[in-house]
Amino acid sequence: MPSRAPGSKDPALYPRLRAGVVLRRRVDTAFRQGADLCAVGRGGKVYELEADSYAFLKACDGRSTLKGLRSRFHSLFDKKTSQRRLAAEIGSDPTLSDLLELRAAPAPADPRQVVETKGLKAACRVAVWHLVSGCNLSCAHCYLGDNSRGRPFDARSVRAAAANLHAIGVEGVRLTGGETTIRPRLLLEAGEELERLCLPFSVNSNAVGDVGVLIELFGKHPGYARFVQVSVDGSFGGPEVLTVKSYSEP
Ligand code: SF4
Repeated sequence: MPSRAPGSKDPALYPRLRAGVVLRRRVDTAFRQGADLCAVGRGGKVYELEADSYAFLKACDGRSTLKGLRSRFHSLFDKKTSQRRLAAEIGSDPTLSDLLELRAAPAPADPRQVVETKGLKAACRVAVWHLVSGCNLSCAHCYLGDNSRGRPFDARSVRAAAANLHAIGVEGVRLTGGETTIRPRLLLEAGEELERLCLPFSVNSNAVGDVGVLIELFGKHPGYARFVQVSVDGSFGGPEVLTVKSYSEP
């Protein structure tokens, strides 16, 4: 049941970051940029923030009431604005409605949605993670060649790599290869781990083989799986340009 503040006709509302939204704060970077303070929305859109907006969003933890936040952040909100009106303003503002939801009962947000890093030289904003080194094609222009990674990723190293990416505060991860779909279990493990750490991701695929794993992956992580990028490479010049190879998962 929604709680009601004493003497108030408005039921209490609890703003919280939507699932899939991440706040990033990079402190003391040597090469500063606007995105050192930012929110990443559900569609992967990056919003650069002022210090007070960042502090407000960080305080939207699902435990504090909208009324309490209105008083606390009086530089952002007019004290006289009613909670109902404030809620309507949040709902109609494209940025705020992308980032926040209002709950009728306390619902603590995931603390991993706020990532603060200190002393990095420069922001690492997007990580391209070469998760799979093999491929089911042999494009003439591929820089991969026949070089397979000496030690392919496994569940353990996937966990370690994802934790490192979270620790350095990247805003998004691109999972690529080689070809990601030829190691479906590994791709699913990476997706699990990235969602666990509130890291949004996209996937690169050549879409030549069985792409059922992409459907499964996106079905499992609607808040964090952003998009699939399909590379259509080659000149259709013949099999020397695009050659399908067989591949079995290690
Ligand atoms: S699909 Fe990509 S990774 Fe695979 S051979 Fe072609 S260029 Fe290389």
